[in-house]
Amino acid sequence: VDKPQLSVVVNEYGDGKKLLLSRDITILQKNESMRRDFVANVSHEIRTPLTIFAGFVETLQNLPLGRDEQLHYLGMMQQQTARMQLLVQDLLTLSRLEASPVPGLHEFINIHTLLVRCHDEAHALSSALAPDSSKAVHQISVCWVDAQGLQVAIPVPADAPLCEKIDGEVARPQCMGRVLAADQELHSAVANIVTNAVRYTPAGGRIQVQWRWQADGSAHFSVRDSGPGIAPEHIPRLTERFYRVDRSRSRETGGTGLGLAIVKHVIQRHGGQLLVESELGKGSVFTLVLPAARLQTPQALAEEAER
Ligand code: ADP
Repeated sequence: VDKPQLSVVVNEYGDGKKLLLSRDITILQKNESMRRDFVANVSHEIRTPLTIFAGFVETLQNLPLGRDEQLHYLGMMQQQTARMQLLVQDLLTLSRLEASPVPGLHEFINIHTLLVRCHDEAHALSSALAPDSSKAVHQISVCWVDAQGLQVAIPVPADAPLCEKIDGEVARPQCMGRVLAADQELHSAVANIVTNAVRYTPAGGRIQVQWRWQADGSAHFSVRDSGPGIAPEHIPRLTERFYRVDRSRSRETGGTGLGLAIVKHVIQRHGGQLLVESELGKGSVFTLVLPAARLQTPQALAEEAER
């Protein structure tokens, strides 16, 4: 436990009396130290790609290079620029989220659309990791589970016929329920955990995206991977800005270290929470718990349609 920090001021009066004023400044000092850490982290994160960039500029200026070599260096410079752009974009997103306590414009988002979008993003990123093939290097599956446990695999590609084996309402995309959310924000949160699963899971691994309705009308959106897993001591710190379990691995995979901080803000603004379960060597499950107040269950949708 940190010791409380006190600021003490002594006021002396003409008659020899003294007044001692003491103030607890623990929180002030903690905030100040967090602010300093944040500025130091941002500076470091920006300086690294800038230094690399400057190195390539110097090489291009000083060495007599052929066209192919020039293109190679320019490509590397482009990578560093992209990294800085991503960092600035994430910093802006985070500061916008912190500045306003409530989410932006709310709209109803179809859960089927959300799941298909997750699949497409996971697939695109996974394929990008194998530039020679359009096939994803991970096994990616998406499913939807109702409150009674009935599971519907969402077929991919998205235009495949839906779940022929299962009759009735649940198989139809428009009957899978809706979530009331700020579309961009929710999308950035789910995309973050989906892309993390792809980025940290080696080729050949499994990524399972699931939407599960709970009996009380709330829902769990989860992404399970068969990646390296995370040791228990790191889990409580994952949503801190710039916290990474493995710095070099995160950089290699293109991470800014701000993704889960953004996810936490977004989900809290939507009245939900982020849960992380993980086992070293086995994989991780990142879950967004969404409150019933933000959701329209398939039953509620059906009743509305009847009215
Ligand atoms: P980054 O941009 O570094 O991925 P995040 O905030 O998204 O930043 O994640 C923080 C850290 O959590 C990552 O650097 C990584 O160490 C760890 N992490 C996140 N998702 C996973 C995952 N699915 N498997 C293993 N580690 C993960």
